[in-house]
Parts: sequence; C-alpha cells; structure tokens
Amino acid sequence: MDFAISEKMQTVIGMIDEFVERELVPLEPLLLQGRFAEIEPELTRRRQTVKQMELWAPNHPVEYGGMGLDLVEHALVSEALGRTPLGHYVFGCQAPDAGNAEILHLHGTAAQKQKYLRPLVDGRIRSCFSMTEVEMPGSNPTMLATTAVKEGSDYVIDGQKWYTTSSDGAAFAIVMAVTNPEAPPYLRASMILVPTDAPGFNQARIIPVMGETGRGYFSHGEILYQSCRVPQENLLGPEGHGFIIAQERLGPGRIHHCMRWIGICNRAFALMCRRAASREIAPGRMLATKQIVQAWIAESAAAIQAARLAVLHAAWKMVHEGHKAARTEISLIKFQVANTMMDVIDRALQVHGGLGMTDDTILAFFYRHERAARIYDGADEVHKISAAKQILNNYQ
Ligand SMILES: Cc1cc2nc3c(=O)[nH]c(=O)nc-3n(C[C@H](O)[C@H](O)[C@H](O)COP(=O)(O)OP(=O)(O)OC[C@H]3O[C@@H](n4cnc5c(N)ncnc54)[C@H](O)[C@@H]3O)c2cc1C
Repeated sequence: MDFAISEKMQTVIGMIDEFVERELVPLEPLLLQGRFAEIEPELTRRRQTVKQMELWAPNHPVEYGGMGLDLVEHALVSEALGRTPLGHYVFGCQAPDAGNAEILHLHGTAAQKQKYLRPLVDGRIRSCFSMTEVEMPGSNPTMLATTAVKEGSDYVIDGQKWYTTSSDGAAFAIVMAVTNPEAPPYLRASMILVPTDAPGFNQARIIPVMGETGRGYFSHGEILYQSCRVPQENLLGPEGHGFIIAQERLGPGRIHHCMRWIGICNRAFALMCRRAASREIAPGRMLATKQIVQAWIAESAAAIQAARLAVLHAAWKMVHEGHKAARTEISLIKFQVANTMMDVIDRALQVHGGLGMTDDTILAFFYRHERAARIYDGADEVHKISAAKQILNNYQ
C-alpha cells in the first residue's frame, strides 16, 4: 500500500493552495454579501490566470485543453479547491458542468462535442442538469413525469423541473425526459440537450435556498418545459439510456463532491483550532485548554482522516477495478463524508460562538449551503439502503 503523493501532484497542490489563499479567499466576502454582479468579473479574471498557470480544467483530457488528471489525482485537486466555495469554478471543474462534460465526452456525437463540449470545457459557456421534478420523488428516478415526444424531426418536451442548479445564464441543459413509456422502468428515459434559448424553455424562478436568492452560477432554477422543441439529433447517447448514463456520471461526481467536502472539513477544522487557540475564555486561559473542545478537535481530526482515506480508496478502486466494483464504497462515502462534514462545520461554528453565526467567517455559509450534501446525488437513506443490500448479498 503506497500512500505517497507523486512529486508532480505535490507541486500542483502546492500551487493551488497558494492561489486559493492569495486570490480566492479574499473574494469570499463578496459572495457572503450576495454581491454576485461584482464577483463574476473577478472570477473571470482569475480564470485567465489559472489558464496561464496551466492548471485549468484538471479533470478534462489534454486534447480539450485540460490537465488530463486521473480520478485519484483529481480527487486531491478537488480537496485543495474545496477550501473555498469559489475554487472549482475558477479552475474550470465545477459541478454541474464537470459531470455534463463527462457525459458529452463519453456519449456525445462529433457535432455535439463541437457545439457543446468544446466551449464548455473552455469555460466560454455554462450548463445545467435538469432531472429532479417538483411533483415526483427525486429519490426514485424511475418516477419522472416529464415527457419528450417525437414530432417530425423534433422532440417536444413537456414537464416541470426544479433544482436545475446553475440554470441562470447557462447555455444549455441536459434534460432527463421519458421517451419510451412502455419500456421497463430503467429504460424509459433519455437525456436530451436543450439550449436554454430553445422555444418553450422557461425559467419560472430562481429558488431561494437557505436564505440565498441566488444568481448566475450560484442559482437553482425551476424550469418549465412548455412544448419545448429541439431536433432529435440532440438526443445524448442511445434512446432510453438516460439512467444508465446518469449512473456513469454520478460515480466520479461523488468522488469530486466528497473530496470537495474534505476540503471544507480542512478549512473548518483549521478555523476551529485557530479560534480555540486564540480565544481567551478566562484570564490567561484559552478555549483550547477546555477538554470538551480538545475532544471536538481530536474527534474531528480522526473523522476527517477516516473520511479522506475512504474517498481516496474509493477513487483508487474506480480507477483500477471500474465503476461497478466500487459501487458499495461510493455509497458508503457519500453519506459518511456528508455527515462528517456537517459535524465538523457544526463544531467549528460552536467554537466560534456568536461569531460563528455571522457571515464574518465562511462557517455560516458552509453550514447553510452544504446541508444539501445529505440530500443531492442520493439522500443518506438511499445510499445506506443500497450499501446494506450489497453487503448483505454476501451473506445470503
Ligand atoms: C442544493 C441542491 C442542488 C441540486 N441540484 C440538482 C441538479 O443540478 N439537478 C437535478 O436534477 N437535481 C438537483 N437536486 C435535486 C436532488 O437531486 C433531489 O433533491 C434529491 O434527489 C432528492 O429528491 P427529492 O428532493 O424529490 O426528495 P424525495 O425523493 O421526496 O425524498 C425525500 C426524503 O425522503 C427520504 N427517502 C427517500 N427515499 C427513501 C428510501 N428509499 N428509503 C428511506 N428514505 C427515503 C430521504 O430522507 C429524502 O431526503 C439538487 C438538490 C439540492 C438540495
């Protein structure tokens, strides 16, 4: 077992750490104050610098202008970038674009790659992924009400989606819609590329989430597809293969998210330790002298280390044995890391007292926004049931 990180990756991570601290952390107050209009030009400028540093799009192939890192290497990058909510966007590997690009790499036609993938990886456009519906349980993806019906050379899409993250200002959506209602449940839906200026694509509202109105990349849209018409050549992959492709997308996506959450843990943990060591709680006595705080620090350190190794192992298994072999590990880390992150943020916030509740530190932002980690990409309960079933198979 070799835990060493290659020299190349040590250099890359060192450069990213320095960039995050110097260029991105100072921009966070704009985000915390909801000043989206001011933040976007700043982020665009920093994206140019990242390209000049040859650190752009770490997870994409070199021929598309990326760094061509494998999943384990990118996991380390995701951890380093996760320390700030601005990291992945500035380095061109943000969700949901990273997952959408991955689908286009694997299933896009040459024309789709030219029209959608190239500008997406380049950072010239953004995209969104439109699957979850207001009236249907997202946890059971076979229950979709949105339909795409063939008419002439087009698909006509009708449905109501929400939580289409980053829809505001996106150039296109990948929409999951039922194309084959008579097929077995997992072969009924397809993925279809829908430009956001297509007739019938209507963003009804940006959903306020945890007190955040949202705008641009930092938005969650409710989308009405009202006789939305796109050519049939916009079908992504084979018809009826929407779920099969979604599974492929979610595996690496969960590694990216989990390592981003480890990055958040690292940041919250450092803030907790710094505050404990510097806050005088009685004359000459720092908060860090209290055993209860020491216990939080030790428990957090152990939990972060365990979660980090579990994610890296799952990534390693995916690289060496394939997605299917790593299914149980992926389900385990999805709920393990999301909960570890929430515990660590919560303790860090507690150590900061009233300050933790303000937006003078990043902790309250993390507390609000990252709660969703236990819900999206499979709720905790769904992953626990799935992992338990796979484990129990060995005993039956
Ligand atoms: C911040 C955020 C971003 C998102 N981004 C996107 C996006 O970009 N695109 C997109 O399409 N969707 C997105 N989603 C939607 C997300 O994928 C769904 O919210 C998720 O799949 C759960 O579906 P639901 O909300 O319909 O909850 P439901 O399916 O109604 O489930 C509600 C709760 O029931 C419990 N539950 C569900 N099934 C079971 C079960 N089998 N056993 C026991 N308990 C169960 C769980 O606790 C679950 O949280 C996002 C969500 C959030 C919060």
